[in-house]
Amino acid sequence: MTLVDRTTAWAYDGDGEPREFVYQRYAHPTGKAAEDALGALERGDALLFGSGTAAVTACVFAFCAPGTTVALAEGAYFGTGATLREFEPWGLRVVEFDQTGAAPPDADVVWVEAPSNPFLTLPSWDALRGHGGLVVCDATVSTPVFLRPLDEGADVSLHSATKYLTGHHDALLGAIATCDPEKRDRLYQVRMRLGLSAAPDAAAALLRGLDTLEVRVRRQAETSAELARRLAEHPAVLRVRYPGVGGLITFDVADDAARRVETSTKLIENMTSLGGVRTTMESRHRWEGDRVPRGLLRLSVGLEDVDVLWDDLSGALENA
Ligand code: PLP
Repeated sequence: MTLVDRTTAWAYDGDGEPREFVYQRYAHPTGKAAEDALGALERGDALLFGSGTAAVTACVFAFCAPGTTVALAEGAYFGTGATLREFEPWGLRVVEFDQTGAAPPDADVVWVEAPSNPFLTLPSWDALRGHGGLVVCDATVSTPVFLRPLDEGADVSLHSATKYLTGHHDALLGAIATCDPEKRDRLYQVRMRLGLSAAPDAAAALLRGLDTLEVRVRRQAETSAELARRLAEHPAVLRVRYPGVGGLITFDVADDAARRVETSTKLIENMTSLGGVRTTMESRHRWEGDRVPRGLLRLSVGLEDVDVLWDDLSGALENA
């Protein structure tokens, strides 16, 4: 059982000197335990943040300055682009590129997503290896079970731990791992000064989630591969995207059919987010507009039986 320590400030020692923990915004025992566990999986030093978006924000403050060009993978999580563009008035330049090929040579930071959400493309590690910029890889959807970005040469691995790492739709959390002590220290400072810290309860949810991560995501990937195969054969499905890893599938139905399909499932919840043990689905056009096809549905596959899921999904597709 993980004990959650919600203490916000600790007494100094008998000489009036700070002990290991001082104030919760700097660091706390539950967070430290979860960071050690995640760091071991990522083969680097991990730091937790209040959300995946807080982790994105920390990267901007830690590694960018006015005039920095960030090359962001096209089709990456739309919120990451929105967060980065919030910094344009402060002189950040954001350009997009196709991550299956080479990044713009003049980019100071290359931001890839493995796989991208919702287009599910994978970055070209060969192309990235020759690039001189700082490489940030958002590995939310692959998790360290399928990808260790630091082993591939990324400088920074980033997660919305709200998704698979905690895994139960009950914790908002972000994480960053790096092998470079200077980058780790800079991120730590930024987290503390900007108040981007994670709560102890969310850190405890990560410790719990990591205990079952591998069995969850391997099962989700197995079920996803089978559902992707069946979807590809369904007459109402125009296109299926599944990168071969993880538990996320996107598929297209006719533009006017997406709302009918997403609201016709009985077991599969019609809601946003991904990475939980229950299967969820939603049309992404409502959030991302014409950046995605109107008929694109994102399916986050949970732990239910594959045939039960297919019955639900194929029943909903009757309404396409
Ligand atoms: N990165 C990816 C790939 C995501 O899917 C998300 C959220 O959906 C985020 C980052 C942002 O994370 P959070 O919602 O925890 O702030």
